[in-house]
Formats: sequence, structure tokens, C-alpha cells
Amino acid sequence: MNEQYRVNGERLWSRLMAMGKVGATAKGGCNRQALTDADRDGRELFMQWCTEAGCELRIDAIGNIFARRRGRNNDLPPVITGSHLDTQPTGGKYDGIYGVLAGLEVIEALNDANVQTEHPIEAVVWTNEEGCRFNVAMMGSAVWSGKMPLQDAYDLTDSAGKTVLQELERTGFRGTTAATHTPVKAAFEAHIEQGPVLEVEGKTIGVVTGVQHMSRHEIHIDGVEAHAGPTPMAMRRDPMMAVADFLPKLYSLAEQQGPQSRMTFGVIEASPASNNTVPGHLMMTVDIRHPDHHCYHTLVEETYRLVQQACDRLQLPCNLHCFWEAPGVEFDPDCVNAVRRAVKTGGYEHMEMVSGAGHDACNLADVVPTSMIFIPCEGGLSHNEAEATTSEQATAGANVLLQAMLESAAN
Ligand SMILES: [Zn+2]
Repeated sequence: MNEQYRVNGERLWSRLMAMGKVGATAKGGCNRQALTDADRDGRELFMQWCTEAGCELRIDAIGNIFARRRGRNNDLPPVITGSHLDTQPTGGKYDGIYGVLAGLEVIEALNDANVQTEHPIEAVVWTNEEGCRFNVAMMGSAVWSGKMPLQDAYDLTDSAGKTVLQELERTGFRGTTAATHTPVKAAFEAHIEQGPVLEVEGKTIGVVTGVQHMSRHEIHIDGVEAHAGPTPMAMRRDPMMAVADFLPKLYSLAEQQGPQSRMTFGVIEASPASNNTVPGHLMMTVDIRHPDHHCYHTLVEETYRLVQQACDRLQLPCNLHCFWEAPGVEFDPDCVNAVRRAVKTGGYEHMEMVSGAGHDACNLADVVPTSMIFIPCEGGLSHNEAEATTSEQATAGANVLLQAMLESAAN
């Protein structure tokens, strides 16, 4: 269906480059942290393009921007797509921005082809997705979906003590529409993969079926500080010996749970951190992820058991606790199917995958039918000024988005 409709890849690419100049960094990336002057400038540029494309704009109380292209029946719930324009301090030109501008390009392509959809279509900018300046990621979509009270978001402060509310007012983005979700027919988010898999597999499109379960845990092990010289190995109470025991077991546990397991030991701190003292205390973190609910729980439970077992054997007191958990998401089957059909229509090389990172779509999926589309990024790099994708890949993803939205908005 509708094979004849295509986005204008050059227009999309030139807008990505134009947006990349707002808050540009010396190394070719962007610093457009949420609700800074640069973020305001980027948002205003987007709104100018939307106005030129004939969209009706509205801004809600947490600064989310909705650009609507009217349908034949404007009482029907819209088909929406969007992502974020804010970046990390040393962010790239595509993370988030691609999804916003691909959404606008869908609207432009429908204008060019003079197509009227039954349902209205909206391109959305969600406020403060990155959570670097104000420390809650996916904030705007969390408020909209009812996961975070508006006042809690308003009260978040940056390192200079400025609140989200103050900065929304200062930048002119405290809108008048209520920041709560209203009925939506279908929601899609196009995004760069932020990992290396599509590139390595030689695929252009990732059909994203969900987001993996993830959690982070702290492991604390007590030892007894002792001199590195006079104390025989067998007489030490050394937390590092427990690590030596459980670490290989945890890696093989991850292997047992299949190639989609992720286990990362990103922090290991021994104290007193002296060359010639057996550590009296060790703290390390483990980040655990898996798309399958059952495998994920096995990973967590077995991690706790294996660490405890190693410490018991060495008679070292230990404590494990979870300090962050994000439950996995399964995207809406109808939305995923719409993307599958769109990929076939376009004839793109593709694969099914789960997202390893959180996205605004995770919040949306709680309250409206949602799915995602991934395109490759060079070397899997993201949250990096060198983040890159190609115009061909960006165009392919936007064509898939166009087809999926057209189908969803048809009746
Ligand atoms: Zn993003």
C-alpha cells in the first residue's frame, strides 16, 4: 500500500545539519542540554519549520511540543511520533533529534503528496529526555504518561540551583495545555540504535519489539585491612578473593542465559585504595539486562546467590542491594506489525531487536499503543560528539515511519 509515498531525504538531512548547528561543539557534536538557551533555540527552529509546514502547535505544562497536521476527522485520536531535541553535554547530532525531524519529514511528505489521512498526525518533542542537567531521564514523557507528578518535575534543580519550572518560564516553554495523556491511536519513535548490532549485521532497519529489563546493584564486601608483606595469603580476609571467585561464575551465568544477556561491572572501589594494604572494604556495581522476563530474573537471583556463596566460603560479610530498576517493555503488537509491513513495503534489510537503552517510547507504551524503529549509527557510538549515521539510513527509517503512520492513520 502507498508505496508511491516517499520522504524527501535531502530535506531531512539538511534539517539534521541545521539543527546540529544549534549548540554545536568544536568536535562536531552538540551541547543542547534541556531548557538552556541552546535548547530553546533548537525548539524555536523546529516550531518555525512546523509552522511553515502548516501545523497547529501546542505546548503543554511541562514544555512538550505537539505539532499537528489535521486529518479528515479531527475528533479521532491522532497518530503521533516524536523523540527529543535535548542532548548530553558532549552529545551528537542524531540521538533524539533524528526521531523529531523524521516525524516532521513525514508531515512534509504528506503535504507534498497532498494526502489527507483520516486521523490527525502529530510530531512531538518531549522535554528533557537526557536527564543530564535535571537528573530525571525521559522527564517530559514521564509527566505526560502519568508516571511522574508535574510538581515533582517542576521542582527538579540543576547544579546551579535553578528549577525546571524557572527554566520553563525563562525559555517561554511553560505551555498552557495540561501535561497529561489524551487518547492516541498509535505512537512511533524513530531513533538511532545507539549500539553496533545493525551495522555489524548489515541491516538498515531495526524493528524494535520492546525494551530490555534492566537494573543496577551495589555489592559491598568487608575484609580486614592487613599489611601486604607480612600477611600470608591463607591468613587474609581479602574481599578481592571473593571477587575472583564469583566474577567468572557471573560471566558464565550471563552466557548460559543466551546472547541477549548483559552484565556489566562498571565500578570497583577497594578501600583504603593503597598499594600495599589488603582492602578492608570493597564496593562494586553490576548492571544486569535481558529482554526476557524469566531470563532476567534468573540473572538477578543467581547473581545474588553466587556472590553470597563466594563471600560465605571466605567468611566475609557482604551486602547486595538494587539501587535502580527499570522494568522491560513489550511494544504493542499492532504497532510492531505496522512497522514490519512498512519495512517490507520499502524493501529494506531489517532485523527484529530489543532496545538496550530507555526511550520516551517506554513511557508512552504504558498508556498508548507504541513501538519503535531503529536505524544504524556508525560504530555503535552514541552520547558522543562523533555520533554518525548516513543520509541513506536516515531516509530509510523515515520512509518506514511514513508508511507505518499512514497505515495507522488510515482508518
Ligand atoms: Zn535518545
